Amino acid sequence: MTKRAYKYRFYPTPEQKILLAQSFGCARFVYNNTLRFRTDAYYKEGQSVPHSEAEKRLVSLKKEFPFLADVSSVILQQTLRDQQEAFKNFWAGRAKYPKFKKRHSRQSIRLTKAAFSMKSDQLFIAKSKEPLSIRWSRELSSEPSSISISKDRAGRYFVSMLCEFEAKRGRPSPMPVCNKTVGIDLGLHDLFITSDGEKSGNPRHTKRYERKLAYLQCQMSKKQKGSSNRAKAKLKVARLHAKIADCRMDATHKASRKLINENQVVCVESLNVKGMIKNPKLAKHIADANWGEFVRQLQYKAEWAERQVVEIDRFFPSSKRCSGCGFVHESLPLSIREWECPECKTHHDRDINAAINIKTAGLAGLACGATGTGMAA
Ligand SMILES: [Zn+2]
Repeated sequence: MTKRAYKYRFYPTPEQKILLAQSFGCARFVYNNTLRFRTDAYYKEGQSVPHSEAEKRLVSLKKEFPFLADVSSVILQQTLRDQQEAFKNFWAGRAKYPKFKKRHSRQSIRLTKAAFSMKSDQLFIAKSKEPLSIRWSRELSSEPSSISISKDRAGRYFVSMLCEFEAKRGRPSPMPVCNKTVGIDLGLHDLFITSDGEKSGNPRHTKRYERKLAYLQCQMSKKQKGSSNRAKAKLKVARLHAKIADCRMDATHKASRKLINENQVVCVESLNVKGMIKNPKLAKHIADANWGEFVRQLQYKAEWAERQVVEIDRFFPSSKRCSGCGFVHESLPLSIREWECPECKTHHDRDINAAINIKTAGLAGLACGATGTGMAA
C-alpha cells in the first residue's frame, strides 16, 4: 500500500469556523485530560494506561462534560488514537514524551471515513451541511481514507487528505527513462551546484524579510501583554513567518522538481543537517537553505518518477579531491573558492569540482551495487 497526502487550503464559512473552533477545543481538551491522567497514573502507580482504558474514560468524560457532544465523536476517538501512537513511539524510544496541546499553537483534528464524505468532488464534514470551500490546487488521485483539518498560527485553514492505493494503481505515472546523471553539491551561497556547472542561486527568504520581521516584532513588544492589539500584532508576525516558510518551500519544490525531471540519477551528499546546525553562525543560513527538506523532496519525487537519488557518505572528501586526476588536498579552507590542481594543473571552481566528485562517487556506488533510494521497482 502506498500512501500519499494531498494538502489544500480552504476557506470556512462563519458557521464552519465556529464548529472547527469547538472541534479543535474539544479534541485538545480530551487529549490533554487523558494525557494528564496517564501521566499521573505513571507517577502514582508506575503503570501505563492501555488504549482501551483511555477509550472507556472518554465515555465518562462525555457524561461529565456535556459540551463534548457538540462535536463529532470520531474526532475525539481519533485524538486518543493519535495519543496512543505518540506513546507507542515514546516507548519504542523513537520520540519524546507526548506533549500537552496548547491553545495558541497550530490546531488540528483528524477525521476518519465515518466523519466526512465526498460527493461529486465536494468534501463534507460531520455536523456541517455545507461543503468545505477548498482551493483545489492539484488533482486528487483517489478517495481519501482519512483527512486532517488544521489551522496554523497565521489563521489559515488547511485540509490534508490521505489517499492509499495498491502498488502502482493511481500513482503518478513514472517518467520515461533518460540517460542523464547529475551530481549536486549543497551549498549556502547557492542551494545547490550541479556537476554541469549550474548554480541554482539561493533566494535567502529570511534575509529578504528580515527588516520587516524585526519591525513587526518590535511593534508587538510595545503592545501591552494580553491586550487585543497585541494579539493583532502577533498575528501579523505569524503571517509573515508563514509567508517566509511558503516562499522557501516553493523554491525547494521547484528546484527538486527540475532536477528529477531532467535527470535519471541524482547523486547527493548525505547530510547530518542537525549536527551542522549546531554551528550557530551557519545555523540560520542552513535552516534558510532547507537542505534536509530538499533531499527529502528529491527522494520521494524520484520514487514516483522511478528515477534514482544516490546518497554519498558525507565523509567522502568531495571538495578536496581533484575531479580530473584524483589528487587529494590535505586541507582546503572554506574561504578558497577556486584552485588549481598541483598535479594536473586543472583550474577548479570549488563547488562544481565537488559536484563532479559526488557524481563520480554516486555512479561508482551504483556500479558496485549500492542501493539508492527511489530504485525502479
Ligand atoms: Zn588534478
